[in-house]
Order: sequence, then structure tokens, then C-alpha cells
Amino acid sequence: MYDRYNRKINYLRVSITDRCNLRCIYCMPAEGVKLLDHKDILSFEEIVLVIREAVTLGITKVRITGGEPLVRKGVISLIEKIAMIEGISDFGLTTNGVLLSSFAVDLANAGLHRINVSLDTLDPEKFRAITRGGDIQKVLEGIESAQKAGLNPVKINCVVRNSSNEPDAVAVREYCRENGLEARFIHEMSLADGCFTIVENGHGGDCANCNRLRLTASGMIRPCLFNDIQFSTRELGIREALERAAGLKPEQGSVNSTGGFHNIGG
Ligand code: SF4
Repeated sequence: MYDRYNRKINYLRVSITDRCNLRCIYCMPAEGVKLLDHKDILSFEEIVLVIREAVTLGITKVRITGGEPLVRKGVISLIEKIAMIEGISDFGLTTNGVLLSSFAVDLANAGLHRINVSLDTLDPEKFRAITRGGDIQKVLEGIESAQKAGLNPVKINCVVRNSSNEPDAVAVREYCRENGLEARFIHEMSLADGCFTIVENGHGGDCANCNRLRLTASGMIRPCLFNDIQFSTRELGIREALERAAGLKPEQGSVNSTGGFHNIGG
């Protein structure tokens, strides 16, 4: 499908939970956030139906996000179901990596193609501070497990304050070079202020060529991360929600005052 700016929309980012096992300072407030009631979170069957319908409309690339997708119980069976949908040529997942070492082989066997892991520093104390308590060793082991499991590519999402020449980013880039990983640098964003830039070595934030829609954990289709437009798959029906979102996709991002990274999936 194409939007009214003649952009080809072929990418669906799917948030399967607003829960997370970390509290990154640029994503969640220390006290956490009000989480969705379980009845408001799409079931696996509903998620698969949305993706199946989206594929009939031209979606070929699917990425699973959260919150942290690996905390959702039964995630491997969901990956299996999605991998069986014909027409998906690019199937990825974004994770904070904390649980990855115990999931990597199952994810690969379930049909996942590739994975992005968040890593903003190689300094264990800084990592613990940024994530409010995370253990970097688990993430590094997770990255290694993903490579051994054959997920390919394994990309590293590194959030930077202002520049990828910051010392932590330089260290992450070197770590990636030494270990055959691809580094992407994401400048800190503010949904409420509408502050964002194009991802270095990625496509996010490139509005002129934006190809994506987002499915939130509560079943809303959002045409843009930096906008409040959203359509309910439960209220409108899946196809109607997808088509309306694509049809009203804004030319470029502005501000998002209703969602958060934890429930839209970045
Ligand atoms: S801000 Fe909106 S239009 Fe721009 S790249 Fe992000 S999702 Fe696409």
C-alpha cells in the first residue's frame, strides 16, 4: 500500500507488551508507568490476525517490540505463528537482551530472522545507572547467544545524548566492529517535545521515506510515532484500522502526547 505522499508502506512494528524488566531513564520514569490491564492487551490470536491482514495490504517486514517482548509469556509460540504467515520476507525483534541467552536458540528455531539488542555503554556501572539496575553481563551473553543461534544480522541499538562520537558510543562501535555486529545510533528522542533525528545507520526518523505503521499492545494502529493519530483494530476492525492509518499517515512527525516508548515500541 502507498500513503498520500506516495510512500510505500511495507513495514509493521508490533508491540506485544507494555511490560519491561528494565527502567531505562530515557524511556520510563523511575516509579514506572500505569500498565495496561490484561484484557486490554491483544491476544496472540488477535496479533496474528492483524499481521495476516496487514500482509494482504502489502506489509512484508515485521518487527516485534515491547516494552520488552521477551517478558511476554509464550512469546516463542507467537513467533512461530507469525513466521508461518506467507509474505513476510523480513522478520525481526528488538530486545533489551537481558533474557536473550535463554531465548536465542528458540527464537531462531521458531523462524525469527534477525534481532536488534539495546546497548548504550560497555561500562557495567553506567549500564546499571541507565537501566536502573540492569546487569550488562546478561546482555553481552545474550548477544553472543543470538549470533551462535544464527540470527542474522544481530544489530546493536545504541542511544546517544548528542553524538555517536560520545565515548560510550565509540566504545560500542568498537565492540561491534570486533564482534561482527552492526551498530546503530539513536539520538535521545522526546515524544512530547517532538524531538527526533534520523537513526545513524538506520531508517527511523527519515520521514520523507517512512514505510512504517505501528501496532500497539492495546491494538491501536499508529501511522506515526510522533503523532497522536491512532485507530482501534478492536473497534473499527483490522482492515479498516490499517487502511485509515495508512491513508492518514502524516507527511512528517510532530508530537506525541498520548503514547510512550514503552507501549508503542519506539
Ligand atoms: S516521525 Fe513519523 S513519519 Fe517520521 S519517520 Fe517516524 S514514524 Fe515515520
